[in-house]
Amino acid sequence: MPSRTDLVEDLMARFPHVPREAVIKEDLLRGGLAFDESALTDNESGDVKPKSYFIFSFDHRTLPELGEAALRRPPEEIVLTGGPYGLRRTVVSVRTNPSSPYRVKPDADGRLQLFLDGKPIADVGLPPMPDYYRHTLANGKQVMEVAPTIQWGYLVYLTVFRVCQYFGAKEECQYCDINHNWRQHKAAGRPYTGVKPIDEVLEALAIIDKHDTLKTSTAYTLTGGSVTSQVGGKTEADFYGQYAQAIEERFPGRWIGKVVAQALPKADVQRFKDYGIQIYHPNYEVWDKRLFELYCPGKERYVGREEWHRRILDSAEIFGPRNVIPNFVAGIEMAEPFGFTSVNEAIDSTTEGLHYFMSKGITPRFTTWCPEPTTPLGKTNPDGAPLEYHIRLLESYRATMEHYGLSSPPGYGPSGAGNAVFSVSSFMDSLPPAPQD
Ligand code: SF4
Repeated sequence: MPSRTDLVEDLMARFPHVPREAVIKEDLLRGGLAFDESALTDNESGDVKPKSYFIFSFDHRTLPELGEAALRRPPEEIVLTGGPYGLRRTVVSVRTNPSSPYRVKPDADGRLQLFLDGKPIADVGLPPMPDYYRHTLANGKQVMEVAPTIQWGYLVYLTVFRVCQYFGAKEECQYCDINHNWRQHKAAGRPYTGVKPIDEVLEALAIIDKHDTLKTSTAYTLTGGSVTSQVGGKTEADFYGQYAQAIEERFPGRWIGKVVAQALPKADVQRFKDYGIQIYHPNYEVWDKRLFELYCPGKERYVGREEWHRRILDSAEIFGPRNVIPNFVAGIEMAEPFGFTSVNEAIDSTTEGLHYFMSKGITPRFTTWCPEPTTPLGKTNPDGAPLEYHIRLLESYRATMEHYGLSSPPGYGPSGAGNAVFSVSSFMDSLPPAPQD
């Protein structure tokens, strides 16, 4: 039986125009990696930035199954360089999987390495603890809990509503563990605020602003679960919008404001814009009609796929097509029991969606599916989608973008292998080099 190394090297050879960095990164994102105990962090008291669990668990095991990694968190991200594949600097979000063939551990000389099938394949750098994580809010809450940063410090990730009102098997997206992640952190006794008070968010941002003297943090994302009724007496646009309004009043123009929310009617989208948001992410999740209906049952029932797409196009009239960046979850196209069974069909379908949006100047982006174990699709697909699907998607994404004369979307930092900081898929690593937008 071919090893994982054989699989990786075969794909590197067959797709030489896809950066090798992206092949390794996609494989780590879809399947996770294991950590030697010596490579774990000392949580908020150490010198390495710990994993914040910023929205979903993005792990392949539940917290109680992670052993030492549940007590001493793994790092938020790792950065890979060198090794036999000559990797340029590659930032990868950490998804823990104790049974992965990838393992971070020191070599005989004590240098931290990424091992695949027991052989070292890259030097591993860990994210330094940012100064702003060493401070707490007046009420004792950690900045990491209220306003974590990801993408090597580029993005402040504000999950201000930690649960989703699509609830239970008939409504939750079948690949999403937001509600479970909330429950497991509560059960573990970790601080995990369901609805983040605005004044706490502002206080945490003030700490970041003060200590991030290099201005590495460039954008913030406001997000959380969908609001189908109200939170705190507000509908979705007003609930998320009020944070943007407060942030822009207090720190005008300090960060690029983004919101990940449902595809809302035009008047609501206008309110996001009026509140100060610059980039809107109305995620369409999966392109295929049948799979959207099956895997996003809440969204299908409350809004419906055609209306969802219509609203995405409408929002381009408000934000401009370049600032509408809907996400899809790359890989669930191939999730059993209903997904495509061949990579060709899955790529054809996904590419059809890319053409639909890109032909109108809207550039979707994607995150690599992590099959979390408590989700219906994670249970039936513990290994995620085939690596070949992810590699061919990178190829198709870049080709479709070039076909329509588009460039990398704004608010994602620099593009190109060796430059990219976007950590939850390698689409930015596999685009041509360009400076930060
Ligand atoms: S809308 Fe779907 S993907 Fe988004 S938080 Fe709710 S269940 Fe998760």
